[in-house]
Amino acid sequence: MPHIQTPSTASRYEGDVPDGLIEHIRSHVEEFGLPVDASGARLTVRYADSEVALQAGRASLDVTITAGTEISLHKTRESVIYLLDHVFPQASASMAWSGVDTGRRHPPNFHFASVSGVRRVSANFMRIEMDCDAIAALSSGGMHFSLLLPPKGHAPVWPALNAMGRTTWPDGDDALHRAAYTFVDLDEAAGRFTFDLFEHDGGRTTQWARAVKPGAVVGIAGPGGGDFPQGDRLFMAGDETAIPAIRRILAASPDTRQGTVFIETGDPADRCDLPRPASIDVHWTERGTEPDLLTRIKETTLPADETFVWVAAEQSLVRAARDHFRKSGVARTSCYFSAYWTR
Ligand SMILES: Cc1cc2nc3c(=O)[nH]c(=O)nc-3n(C[C@H](O)[C@H](O)[C@H](O)COP(=O)(O)OP(=O)(O)OC[C@H]3O[C@@H](n4cnc5c(N)ncnc54)[C@H](O)[C@@H]3O)c2cc1C
Repeated sequence: MPHIQTPSTASRYEGDVPDGLIEHIRSHVEEFGLPVDASGARLTVRYADSEVALQAGRASLDVTITAGTEISLHKTRESVIYLLDHVFPQASASMAWSGVDTGRRHPPNFHFASVSGVRRVSANFMRIEMDCDAIAALSSGGMHFSLLLPPKGHAPVWPALNAMGRTTWPDGDDALHRAAYTFVDLDEAAGRFTFDLFEHDGGRTTQWARAVKPGAVVGIAGPGGGDFPQGDRLFMAGDETAIPAIRRILAASPDTRQGTVFIETGDPADRCDLPRPASIDVHWTERGTEPDLLTRIKETTLPADETFVWVAAEQSLVRAARDHFRKSGVARTSCYFSAYWTR
């Protein structure tokens, strides 16, 4: 049988390591609800599809990452680099990583996609269909992607992978506009995916979608940004931008799952069918009418047994909901709070 190698990467820093570094890192990763095992100067952090082991000495720090795919390996390495930039910048700036494919121009989670169609699906939503060679890689490891639009009138400069394993993003006049979207459907056989875009005033992506012609090529980065929640019981709340994610999560839920969902839209004409288990209730609310979405969230009493709490909407609402549920004692490993947009 052929030996299948698990993608891995490692890095070693040699130099003074501050006391309490492992504890400091642990407090940050626990904030994100990631499961950790700590024993003395060793810390193991488990992501959905990867694992990070950190071992600190007085004069060295070793980091090893293993992952299910090259994409999750790259994304986990970027998270670790980002964290070390924050907690131990003098180390992260000089840490080289094994296994970085220097022959690769773009990071593993960067892909090209070309528009094959745009159609209206409701009063304020457009469905965009994209051809992409990387559908297999996009099908697991997150429900979302970032659409990367070059500045108008400029030849695109796409993200690159440097020898230190970091993604370098074009900046200044070449900076890309990045907006996250949720896959509606991924068709591996056809090499095609779709996403639903909520049109709103001032949106660069809205303007792009209204004008784009079939064949236009853009960059995308993904998959990422949160996966299907686990658990027998769900509480979900969101606005228009969360509808595609809520729809996918409900459609993929086992028949036995129970729960409650609140969705707020500005226009009732954007309400849509949400195929789901019989024991999940969906309540649509209209923005500007009372009780508003936050009041509905706060009025909900979660059953004593474990419920996964999922909230995605405008940043201030998500923060208020997160504070509310944290005070109610919801475990960090049983929730997803994500600011899908900011005012
Ligand atoms: C993980 C994730 C998944 C997402 N999935 C989807 C999805 O499937 N479909 C979808 O439509 N959106 C989705 N979003 C939200 C989307 O990324 C943001 O709304 C994003 O700002 C849109 O970019 P833009 O180029 O249209 O506007 P931007 O250029 O980012 O913003 C321009 C202006 O529009 C305002 N704005 C941004 N979003 C909204 C809004 N929803 N309502 C009113 N004003 C707004 C901003 O405050 C700003 O003033 C998702 C976000 C995340 C993080």
